[in-house]
Amino acid sequence: MQEIKTILVLGAGVYGATAALELRQRGHAVHLFDPGPLPHPDAASTDISKVLRMDYGNDKFYWDLMLAAFEGWDEWNTRFERPLWHQTGFLMLSRDNWKPGGFEYDSYQVALRRGLPVEPIDQETLAVRYPAWKAENYPQGYFNPRAGWAESGEVVHWLIRECQAAGVVLHEGVRFQHLLESGSRVSGFAAQSRERFQGDIVLMAAGAWTPALLPHLSDAMWATGQPVFHFKVPDLANFQPPGFPVWNADIANTGWYGFPAKDDGTLKVANHGPGWRVDPHAPRRIPDGTEDKFRAFFRDTFPALVDAPKLFERLCLYCDTWDGNFWIDFDPQREGLLICAGGSGHGFKFAPVLGKITADVAEGRENHFAARFAWRKPGPMDHEEARFFKTDGDVRRK
Ligand SMILES: Cc1cc2nc3c(=O)[nH]c(=O)nc-3n(C[C@H](O)[C@H](O)[C@H](O)COP(=O)(O)OP(=O)(O)OC[C@H]3O[C@@H](n4cnc5c(N)ncnc54)[C@H](O)[C@@H]3O)c2cc1C
Repeated sequence: MQEIKTILVLGAGVYGATAALELRQRGHAVHLFDPGPLPHPDAASTDISKVLRMDYGNDKFYWDLMLAAFEGWDEWNTRFERPLWHQTGFLMLSRDNWKPGGFEYDSYQVALRRGLPVEPIDQETLAVRYPAWKAENYPQGYFNPRAGWAESGEVVHWLIRECQAAGVVLHEGVRFQHLLESGSRVSGFAAQSRERFQGDIVLMAAGAWTPALLPHLSDAMWATGQPVFHFKVPDLANFQPPGFPVWNADIANTGWYGFPAKDDGTLKVANHGPGWRVDPHAPRRIPDGTEDKFRAFFRDTFPALVDAPKLFERLCLYCDTWDGNFWIDFDPQREGLLICAGGSGHGFKFAPVLGKITADVAEGRENHFAARFAWRKPGPMDHEEARFFKTDGDVRRK
């Protein structure tokens, strides 16, 4: 019989909210704390869209994890008030990387071996089917129909409502200050308001704020700022599916990716790159010259967007781990402290399976996905994902 515990979850982004819901559904007494308002406007999970893809080069672990997550997304779509996961398909294009070892090429080969209905996209097909692209610059790629995007902020909204309906006690406005420790046992935490909360497990899921709140983690994870821009498209028809699905433009070398335009003409484009190391509590500002880089990219890839009006910009924070894998495990030095963070810029898509992994770890149950996220010492990167982060010849700070 599983022992019922009091679990204090810090952070109501997608990692914290999915953990809180699953643990509550397993009968534990769960409290969810966040400075709020919720979903928190500065949280990484709070956005108009996040990419949902299974295409992870040769890293079969993440392919398997996402195949499981897609089943969850399909099921969640039947429970959302309206579909929040949009299966537009995913255009994965390469410039000169279409060869073994190329992220796009390897992903395509894995998809073929798995019998997935992917389609090769050559320059001619690109020009005809996806007219917004400067096809001459993207000689080869493929289209994966089993992919798309989710309205991440709305999903977190829904998860928090599900948490409350399940009996999770929500403490909006409470900000973690420090742990309450007696010897090597963590018995709770003190809030900035000086309130103290006691529990059997303190589950820290504060995203990019985590290494600042628990500095002993700062050699394993850190916050990096990543630029997100919204532009107003000149002609909606060319920037919505099927002619404009979610896309990557030679991402392993350039970091560029984006989404179809919303019905109001808002188009989100972002760059998955080295980013800037930041203090998560500091004011957020996108460095000068960044918008020029986006427009230079448009000149090269989406000529119709070069002069598109900018609607919005945001410095969104990754919680980067040294190897790009999530961090879901108990602290070996602090009994009762469970770390659930390290999304490293690619965690949201796994929302439907994250809660179960975290709850299994919390209960000490077997979970074949958990090993990749277990406590580990910073060391040489040997796994596939490392290659994905090479930009401009520099290895991302992993
Ligand atoms: C620019 C950008 C683009 C991305 N694109 C994608 C994508 O396309 N696909 C994808 O799968 N993933 C993507 N990601 C990654 C994904 O968004 C993250 O991995 C995921 O959202 C992290 O969730 P989280 O719950 O760990 O953190 P967050 O969502 O940041 O939540 C952390 C929570 O902790 C709270 N908190 C902070 N301080 C305290 C405190 N002192 N006490 C209590 N609570 C506190 C905050 O208020 C916040 O609500 C992207 C991330 C960024 C930044």
